[in-house]
Amino acid sequence: MTRWPTRIAGLAATLALGGGAAYGTGAAVAGSPPSSLPAPAHRPGDVREPLNIADLVTQIDRYYGGTKNADGSWSAAAESPYTRDVRRVEQAARKHIAEAARKHTDETARKGARRGGKPAVVLDVDDTMLLTYDYEKSTNFTYAVKSFTDYVRKADRGPVHGMPELVNYAKGKGMEIFFLTASAEDVRAPFAKNLAKVGVRTPLDRAHLFLKDKVDPPAYLRRACGAGDAWTCDGARYKAATRKYIESRGYDLVASIGDQASDFPGGHADRTFKLPNPMYRVD
Ligand SMILES: [Mg+2]
Repeated sequence: MTRWPTRIAGLAATLALGGGAAYGTGAAVAGSPPSSLPAPAHRPGDVREPLNIADLVTQIDRYYGGTKNADGSWSAAAESPYTRDVRRVEQAARKHIAEAARKHTDETARKGARRGGKPAVVLDVDDTMLLTYDYEKSTNFTYAVKSFTDYVRKADRGPVHGMPELVNYAKGKGMEIFFLTASAEDVRAPFAKNLAKVGVRTPLDRAHLFLKDKVDPPAYLRRACGAGDAWTCDGARYKAATRKYIESRGYDLVASIGDQASDFPGGHADRTFKLPNPMYRVD
């Protein structure tokens, strides 16, 4: 069965939206665009010439402060327009977490029990905790499951600026920390290893790190999404069902932090924080 990959490469999506043939770029479009993308316009006069892909890549490189290293890998600058935007979101999340922690403490002192459960924060992983800029450059922004899985297995990605520190801060404020990714169960070990490597100092066991197992999902996901070939959930519904399960275990998710719009629909979090990511879209 041919499927459009769950994660849509930036260049491939740009080409699909443009509705034109690609030539001379080396970029490939795999499969058909997902139904959630806007239908291509049929009247050529309605469509202005899109930004040239080469110029778009240049903009993205400038945004990240990209530098090519001697070994061919790419680094993002510690100070860049990207890290400035990340810092803005991180600081807003930090402020909200501090306030939420104080409210929970006040409630506990007044009532002797936490209202609405134990405070917790849920975070996505790719481009929320671990940066994929180097991978995207290595593939010319054209995601493929195999090349990305090979890359993830190295467990050598750098952090999204300031995010491990935010996680440790939240933990210090009494928050339980959950990581929720749509990546498959078979990369659990490198995900946990890489998160620890970038400085996360919170539990990374199965109760705190959630990956997607479509073949043999836990009962709460089987009810919401099915299993195997009968799996019905897109990334947003998978994540909402998992947040609902976390809440059912007695937690109040005071914040949900991610880099994709699909990280947030479906509720089960008091407030959401969206980090920047111009490289691809996950539906
Ligand atoms: Mg992500």
